[in-house]
Amino acid sequence: MQHFDIIIIGAGNAGLTIAAALPANLQIAIIDHKPENTFSTIPKIDGRKIALNYGSKLILDEFNLWPALAPHTTPITQVHISQQGSFGITRLTAEENNTPALGYIVATEILSQALQTQTATQKNITWFYSTTLLNLESTTVNVQHEDINKTLTAKLIIAADGAKSNCRQLLGIECVTTDYQQNALITRVKLKIKNPNIAYERFLRDGTLALLPMQDDYYGVVWMAATEKIAALQKLSDNELLAEIQKKFGYRLGRFIDIDMQRFYYPIHSIIAKTQTKDNCVLLGDSAHLLSPVAAQGFNLTLQDIYCLVGICKSGTRNVPLQQAVEENYEEILEKYLVERLSAQQQVIGNVNRLMTTFSSPHFPLAQLRSAGLTLLDLSIKNKKNISESFMGITPRIQKLLREKHVRSI
Ligand SMILES: Cc1cc2nc3c(=O)[nH]c(=O)nc-3n(C[C@H](O)[C@H](O)[C@H](O)COP(=O)(O)OP(=O)(O)OC[C@H]3O[C@@H](n4cnc5c(N)ncnc54)[C@H](O)[C@@H]3O)c2cc1C
Repeated sequence: MQHFDIIIIGAGNAGLTIAAALPANLQIAIIDHKPENTFSTIPKIDGRKIALNYGSKLILDEFNLWPALAPHTTPITQVHISQQGSFGITRLTAEENNTPALGYIVATEILSQALQTQTATQKNITWFYSTTLLNLESTTVNVQHEDINKTLTAKLIIAADGAKSNCRQLLGIECVTTDYQQNALITRVKLKIKNPNIAYERFLRDGTLALLPMQDDYYGVVWMAATEKIAALQKLSDNELLAEIQKKFGYRLGRFIDIDMQRFYYPIHSIIAKTQTKDNCVLLGDSAHLLSPVAAQGFNLTLQDIYCLVGICKSGTRNVPLQQAVEENYEEILEKYLVERLSAQQQVIGNVNRLMTTFSSPHFPLAQLRSAGLTLLDLSIKNKKNISESFMGITPRIQKLLREKHVRSI
């Protein structure tokens, strides 16, 4: 039997971020069913471009993870939201929010590699690669590792094993699954003009088209639509698809001169766990809440969860030092975590759901309302400020961090 302070199951973006963010005096075990070479070689390109909001950038900076990412990111200085066949437009700008950017785009393989490099050097982490999870109960994890059955124990177990979470199942936690009957097509187009660092979200009559600025005058394209529509797009040649994207998006970015030969497809659904803790186990990342990528919120929400959980662990409970807090008061740590995070998560999950249902409806009056809504939003300063703050992930904890940073800089 091996004992640790914390066991993390799943070495994806959520698991590795929290492993990097937790204090170095905690002994951590990381379990993943993938083999070691998955984590020591350059991660496979899966087409995903992660739009990190400004709040996430601040969090990654606090965890000292941002410097490795920064050179590979593309800032978004403006977000432009429009609707096909209507004049309604909303623009959010970094300038009106007094920030250098509203967010940053990073390719998912770059993010994963930075997290893998950081955690590979941490002496407080024991890795269990190619490991099969057999059982998970209260403080104990049973695994098969190198053909041997092992028992690992810890006071806090973090289940970050993704949307199809085996941990969730073993803990008997139910979830609500919504299949939007949509797919996402992901590719890149090259611009003729210089990259203006503007992200576009265009609501089409039958889906959404997001264009995200990337390095070298490329734009990432995320086209979400009904499964049959995406299947039809899948059959198009590269030139035909390029023409179709140009037709739907228009010429705001000039003419697209090239398209990537690689395309990626993702089914769109959401999976929300009905509860996120059981005994001393907590679900984190997609195992707790898989969201539709329509609003680019999935990993951003997870970073806010991690920032909160690490913050509570660091400050301990009832002023008990961290090590002791983790030893004795894990229930209190998780209780505090849920009190702070559940309602914040519900708000984001609700917003994403509304976007998926309202904006994908081609119903005429709804389309008109949306158009009016977008124009009014552009005119209403207060509304815009609220939308900007929510888009940028400016939560009360981030506001506190910004104030502390301001004080540190004087
Ligand atoms: C098309 C698309 C675009 C997106 N765009 C954005 C965006 O712009 N902004 C944003 O914030 N988010 C975005 N997201 C969401 C984001 O990618 C995810 O929320 C995030 O990567 C999930 O990380 P995770 O670590 O929770 O899960 P995963 O990445 O799935 O990691 C789970 C880990 O657990 C391991 N594992 C699984 N089962 C077991 C087991 N039984 N035993 C041991 N290990 C196991 C896996 O090997 C893996 O390493 C997007 C998602 C998609 C699909």
